[in-house]
Amino acid sequence: MKIICVGRNYTEHIEELKNEKPDDPVIFQKPDTSILLKKQPFFIPDFSNDVHYEVEVLVKIKKIGKHIQQKFAHKYYDEIGLGIDFTARDLQQKLKDKGLPWEKAKAFDGAAVIGNKWLDKNQLGNVDKLNFSLLKNDVVVQQGNTSHMLWKIDELIAYISTYFTLKIGDIIFTGTPAGVGPVTPEDRLTGFLEDTKMFSIKVK
Ligand code: ZN
Repeated sequence: MKIICVGRNYTEHIEELKNEKPDDPVIFQKPDTSILLKKQPFFIPDFSNDVHYEVEVLVKIKKIGKHIQQKFAHKYYDEIGLGIDFTARDLQQKLKDKGLPWEKAKAFDGAAVIGNKWLDKNQLGNVDKLNFSLLKNDVVVQQGNTSHMLWKIDELIAYISTYFTLKIGDIIFTGTPAGVGPVTPEDRLTGFLEDTKMFSIKVK
């Protein structure tokens, strides 16, 4: 399986990082080795002094597809999840300044948290109006609603599938809203999609 991530998909997050608003979705990937293993804490890697959490809504692909039209994109997923796109912000900034790829800052071991719960889109209602949030040590640090995405889920599936064949089990990270920030050892990060607790992880 592969993990396809979308950068700069929420205006307020683009502004907080002083990035330019893109003309097209910003896409990158994480390898399967970046998935944080179940029930394991997240260990801050020693090559970074500024690892940030980014809470994101996830979409699990259920059918193989390429050049998927937006109007048919809904047929390619049922399950919606929640995760964290951990980012070594200091390293990412260095790479961005040099115009180099972000992989080392985004695709390292443990950098992809995939919540263990998946919710059926048909029970959630409109996938373009979902509330989600991240708590750090019981304080809300990020709150988002998928209605604020620059590119909605079906648009992303259409766009991504013009470049990469989507396969069963692939997961799309749809971008983070404002409020990203650093983690320190002993933090606990808990994610909610609507009223459901989707993950709770410890930082070490
Ligand atoms: Zn992200």
